[in-house]
Amino acid sequence: MIVLGIEGTAHTFGVGIINDSEGEIKILADVRKVYSPAEGGINPYFASEFMAENADIAIKEALKISDLDIKDIDLIVFSQGPGLGPALRIAATSARILSLYHSIPLLGVNHCVAHIEIGIHLGHLQNPLIVYASGGNTQILIKRKNFYSIFGETMDIGLGNLLDKFGREFGLKHPPGPKVEELAKSGKNFIDLPYTVKGANLCLSGLLTSAVRKKDENLCDLCYSLQETAFSMLVEVSERALAHLNVKELLLAGGVGNNKRLQEMLMLMAKEHNVKFFVPDNYCSDNGIMIALTGSKMFKCGIRQKFEETKVKQRFRTDKVEILWD
Ligand code: AMP
Ligand code: MG
Repeated sequence: MIVLGIEGTAHTFGVGIINDSEGEIKILADVRKVYSPAEGGINPYFASEFMAENADIAIKEALKISDLDIKDIDLIVFSQGPGLGPALRIAATSARILSLYHSIPLLGVNHCVAHIEIGIHLGHLQNPLIVYASGGNTQILIKRKNFYSIFGETMDIGLGNLLDKFGREFGLKHPPGPKVEELAKSGKNFIDLPYTVKGANLCLSGLLTSAVRKKDENLCDLCYSLQETAFSMLVEVSERALAHLNVKELLLAGGVGNNKRLQEMLMLMAKEHNVKFFVPDNYCSDNGIMIALTGSKMFKCGIRQKFEETKVKQRFRTDKVEILWD
């Protein structure tokens, strides 16, 4: 089965094509067009304009790379939510048009579940504890009774939002997260910042307020301290979950998963507990492959959606999706 996946929840219009046949998944094309505002954060309207301009180009490019025609596609999948409404609508409309015009089955998938599924697939994992850290989401999850249930999560902003909002205050260009990581490497002095863990949950907005008020401090020291504080909070709640749930695998997923210091901290903690740690490197960031892969899993276990069921879901929670596949 050849599956074309379209990602479009925030900044990336991604088109991934996979061949899922006889138990083997081959990646045929992975095209990513990334919106990057000249200043400030992501404006949903401009992000959607960028996507509308790039949708056709990206789809054609992916088909060309795979040496396929649209008629060779057996299933079209798109990111149904959560995300920015205008961006979601461009991805959904592109997928719906292709599906209707060429009579190809269509499935909408949950973007967060797709981040998890690509990690499980690439890491050959069974049932990991999942640390999902992206721009808007920060959750600790485990699959229970066919749902990724949330063991703990941020009570306010996502970890990526924390780094991005902090970075913007200091004039770092979009996306600030990776730039904070770079500057943190030269940080030498640890600056005390609020550390707020409440059982299995964490709070990040007080940390943000406090860090941006320290404008007189050295920026590298601040980046270093912000990362160490926020990541330690995430590692603490992850460790608590590991101890409670007695799992043997730990998966780091989502865009902030690109951060090498966060990877190192979670890896060391996992090692202490004799737990296998995996991060899907090049597939932490938003991409169409994870969307195609998740849709393929859904399709193979019999899930079908009527056209009316493929509307976008801006607030689509990870724990609302029934996981019917292994
Ligand atoms: P996502 O929402 O999954 O697309 O992830 C995007 C978020 O990941 C943004 O907030 C980025 O700043 C953040 N991000 C990407 N790379 C890094 C990195 N190397 N370190 C920290 N944050 C990162
Ligand atoms: Mg994402």
